[in-house]
Amino acid sequence: MTPGSAALAAAGGQPSSAISDSDWSAAVTAIQGLPPTATVLLVCHVNPDGDALGSMLGFGLGLRQLGLAPVATFPAPFELVPPFDALPGRDMLIDPAGAPAAPDLLICFDAASEGRLGELADRLEHAGTSLVLDHHASNTRFGDLPVVEPTAAATSVVAEALLTRLGVRLDAAIAECLYVALATDTGSFKFDLTTPAVHELAARLLATGIRPAEISRRLFDSRPFGAMKLYGDVLARAVLEPGAAGGGGMVWSYATLDDLARHGQQRHVLEGLIDALRVAEEADLACVFKQVGDAEWSVSLRSKGGVDVSRLAVGLGGGGHRLAAGFTGYGELTEVVDSVRAAL
Ligand code: 5GP
Ligand code: MN
Repeated sequence: MTPGSAALAAAGGQPSSAISDSDWSAAVTAIQGLPPTATVLLVCHVNPDGDALGSMLGFGLGLRQLGLAPVATFPAPFELVPPFDALPGRDMLIDPAGAPAAPDLLICFDAASEGRLGELADRLEHAGTSLVLDHHASNTRFGDLPVVEPTAAATSVVAEALLTRLGVRLDAAIAECLYVALATDTGSFKFDLTTPAVHELAARLLATGIRPAEISRRLFDSRPFGAMKLYGDVLARAVLEPGAAGGGGMVWSYATLDDLARHGQQRHVLEGLIDALRVAEEADLACVFKQVGDAEWSVSLRSKGGVDVSRLAVGLGGGGHRLAAGFTGYGELTEVVDSVRAAL
């Protein structure tokens, strides 16, 4: 095993790492060669989840330990919503409109393609060097230095491996960010890629003294009463189609802007809806259609293995992983639901 793959294996990836030794060295050199005055811009995908924000801010805190002063941002809407609004390192966040146009180094987190960076994608061309840390199998290998490990459970696994190679010491603030990222993308250590090495990484993070119960409650088990009632409405109208998805069965439901208004809720409370729906044992495929505009729907897709939802989502203009993916659909709800049935 090469030192590069060993570092990743130790951090949660597989020995057969997609990241070569020269990839790791180039990434380390790109960071270690910077003077303290360098402009370092960290970016992650639009509507960032726990892995995007946690990897980005955790890595940013690590860069601070090395004497650098990174700023971090993500595409509009630029709003840090619960449960991420108390993450360590959030003081390095700046509005995307004010993001440096030509940073010396740009580091991109958890984005499978340039399109996921919205209005920030142009920074890739103008940066001195662009480094891309990711774990999507569908990653298009954009940027000067793509460091992409599809077998990694989260981008934070790749980020931590690089921090280790940079000699950064894990402290509680970095660990909290990386733990949020790891817990998010493994569905609280329940999904497929939850390897022994993932638990070893979690153990290293917990050893800094962070409180997993508090973090997990905030991430997974806490929402406003109004959101709970909204979930009730959405679950009550769920549809089971046993013959769909090649006979594996499909369960789906939707939440409209009117549902949000009626319960006095904001859009971010809908992130956990798919987890409430995908428990239906009669369905391999679960879909939640979340209205974001007049004729615009953000769609979450989850599979238990029978359907490759990454392929399904890519075919519909989105992306993601084999068992968890999404896309944006346009038109009436029935049209968007039909587009999923047709793509199956
Ligand atoms: P979620 O359903 O939690 O919003 O998204 C699940 C996964 O699907 C995300 O981690 C992300 O990889 C991917 N994903 C969701 N929405 C989109 C989208 O509109 N475009 C692309 N390319 N990927 C998406
Ligand atoms: Mn991720």
